[in-house]
Amino acid sequence: MSDPLKLGATIGILGGGQLGRMLAVAAARLGFRTHIFEPGANPPAADVAHAATTAGYDDVAALKAFANAVDVVTYEFENIPTAALDAIESIRPIHPNREALRTSQDRLTEKTFLQGLGLRVAPFADITTTSDLEAALETIGTPSILKTRRFGYDGKGQSRLRSAADAQTALADMAGNPAVLEGFVNFTSEVSVIAARNPSGEIACFDPGENVHRDGILHTTTVPASISAALRTDAVLLAAKILNALDYVGVLGVELFVTPQGFIVNEIAPRVHNSGHWTQNGCTVDQFEQHIRAIAGWPLGDGSRHADVIMENLIGDDMNRVPELAKQNDTALHLYGKAEVKPGRKMGHVNFIKR
Ligand code: AMP
Repeated sequence: MSDPLKLGATIGILGGGQLGRMLAVAAARLGFRTHIFEPGANPPAADVAHAATTAGYDDVAALKAFANAVDVVTYEFENIPTAALDAIESIRPIHPNREALRTSQDRLTEKTFLQGLGLRVAPFADITTTSDLEAALETIGTPSILKTRRFGYDGKGQSRLRSAADAQTALADMAGNPAVLEGFVNFTSEVSVIAARNPSGEIACFDPGENVHRDGILHTTTVPASISAALRTDAVLLAAKILNALDYVGVLGVELFVTPQGFIVNEIAPRVHNSGHWTQNGCTVDQFEQHIRAIAGWPLGDGSRHADVIMENLIGDDMNRVPELAKQNDTALHLYGKAEVKPGRKMGHVNFIKR
């Protein structure tokens, strides 16, 4: 194992949104500095970081200057262009590693990888042309979902097929981008497990949370999830299997469908995850600190859950509820400092502690 990052070292974070912001706060608590790299103006993470670079992911000179100014690089979102990663990696290590990014950036690669580990995924097929889709519909059938292989998030880049008659519209929705067709999973609930691994191979998992989406965006995460003890163990084992297979360093989010036959893995996110925000008030060490500990080569912290929590995202006009929420007991507000409220924009979240 490499030496732990020394105190006062600087962690570079690609992406300046709320996840970067909460990572920067956790890093500061452990005595590290952070430097944010973000193309957009006024990134929420820059408010709480030591330094920020505003430049595009195609600006090789800016990327190299950023890499030279930091000791290690991590990221808050997975859709970073490969060329940008190459420029950085020639100078500083990136955690989680390139293989984790490559695997999770493409739904086809991701599903193939998960299946190769012996994990269950929805039936899927690679789709580029109309004839691919027609052939896949013969085996997978409907209902099913066509998803772009890359750059999808919060349900974007997806089209549902109720019958084969929807094929042409669904394909048009992909706008010529390569896609995968997925069989529709009749799940009883959706859960996610947030897990961490450090360079020594130590693994820590948070308790699985149960997720409810609204309009394709995460609405609430509830812990404990209403799943059996056996499934709880399965969630931990499968997360550990994925972490080890990727020789992963950092925090990983695994989204799962619960079915009467057990879990089906929906997708993995090589980063801290919205469904892990409950850990901020439900655990001794939360997902953000756990990620910083892992990439700094520290021992992982105690992620055991000491409270029941409901995390609710504050989206758009939900911000109007803040004055009332601020008066409530057992309620922890986490606001992202975004200047402009927009419909569908994640503005903050609230953790309701249940005793
Ligand atoms: P994703 O972007 O893949 O996480 O999908 C967003 C949401 O769409 C998921 O959280 C599910 O609620 C739903 N969904 C995605 N894929 C499937 C599937 N194969 N079967 C049923 N529901 C799905």
